[in-house]
Amino acid sequence: MSDNQTSSPKAWRPATRQLHAGLERTEYGETSEALFLTSGFVYDNAEQAAKTFTGEVTHYQYSRFGNPTTAALENRLADLEGAEACVATATGMGAVSSALLSHVTAGGRVVASRALFGSCHWIVNHLLPRYGVETVFVDGEDLAQWDEALSVPTDAVLLESPSNPMLDILDIAAISERAHKAGAIVIVDNVFASPIFQKPLELGADVVVYSCTKHIDGQGRVLGGAVLGRKDWITETLQPFTRNTGNALSPFNAWVMLKGLETLSLRVEAMARNAAAVADYLASAPGIKLVRYPGRKDHPQYELAQRQMSGNGTLVAFVVEGGQKEAFAFMNALELIAISNNLGDSRSLVTHPATTTHSKISPEERAALGITDGAIRFSVGLEDSADLIDDLARGVAALKAL
Ligand SMILES: *Cc1c(COP(=O)(O)O)cnc(C)c1O
Repeated sequence: MSDNQTSSPKAWRPATRQLHAGLERTEYGETSEALFLTSGFVYDNAEQAAKTFTGEVTHYQYSRFGNPTTAALENRLADLEGAEACVATATGMGAVSSALLSHVTAGGRVVASRALFGSCHWIVNHLLPRYGVETVFVDGEDLAQWDEALSVPTDAVLLESPSNPMLDILDIAAISERAHKAGAIVIVDNVFASPIFQKPLELGADVVVYSCTKHIDGQGRVLGGAVLGRKDWITETLQPFTRNTGNALSPFNAWVMLKGLETLSLRVEAMARNAAAVADYLASAPGIKLVRYPGRKDHPQYELAQRQMSGNGTLVAFVVEGGQKEAFAFMNALELIAISNNLGDSRSLVTHPATTTHSKISPEERAALGITDGAIRFSVGLEDSADLIDDLARGVAALKAL
């Protein structure tokens, strides 16, 4: 775990923090962060080992409990997020599952927005009930549904905004206010916005979770996750769970993420500029029924997106006229943009959610989420936007040729 209280000067701006925060140089004065690829640590003597275990001495014990390279990442993420503390996890799902499972107990209650990443949906819908936790889904944009679901005492709220894959925007401040009245902590999966464009803790949330696999590595190399929040919750609730259940991030992956963080704002801002350009192109292209991008005025929650986020993100969702046949023809015609279910990568990727990431949820549930058979999720990368538009034009031509 990191403790953000002694880290970088508050005056640093994000671009500086993502390079310098949390860096503790060794005696060798290395420029880049050292990679401590070690499972364990040795003690000077038996007394020091004993005192480490009683807590009288601070010393690394074992990399499942803590590691200097992982701690550097945790410090930097906490600093960037404005959180008191951070625990890095092996994957994004490790972060989501630990945040929920460490907090709730049998007989507890969780309310979640329906529009969740597939595995998050599985945890709420299948796993938690198995352990005696009552779970309720709501349409996240509808505050009346939150009011009703939160009219009884609740332990935790889980939401994602913008949501995967249709980019619904949820009012984090309004939901947090309601959740707190019901006694719940609010956990926000902030993957789609990234730490650059949205600060859920400032909006009233209690816990932020990331799949660092996405924009934070952002170059398609390693899996990782992070949970950020108040120091007391992280140390007393989350950390005993993560340490004892073995959800530790590899120090190697932590080091890769530290390198990724150095360019996070550069990448995410450039990807968002490209996303705005391709969204406008798609909105004017024949055969495209609908385009969803939080930066476009035709997004149903445009005003909220502008109020809540400082940028519009790197993902675009669009729906082709027709259904699966048309969506597949569009995707198969692309030469530059790859078909993959990952996102937040420096390379542009498209996904057909109905047959991949969201294929395990029922057709009725998919319909409720607006995931039609013609819907395509586009994670916009760092290529030249003119090349992306040329490639999308191949998809548009394939639609015409059907
Ligand atoms: C990818 C993703 C996750 C899961 O992250 P992994 O690193 O793949 O475990 C969770 N939430 C969202 C929104 C994601 O996009």
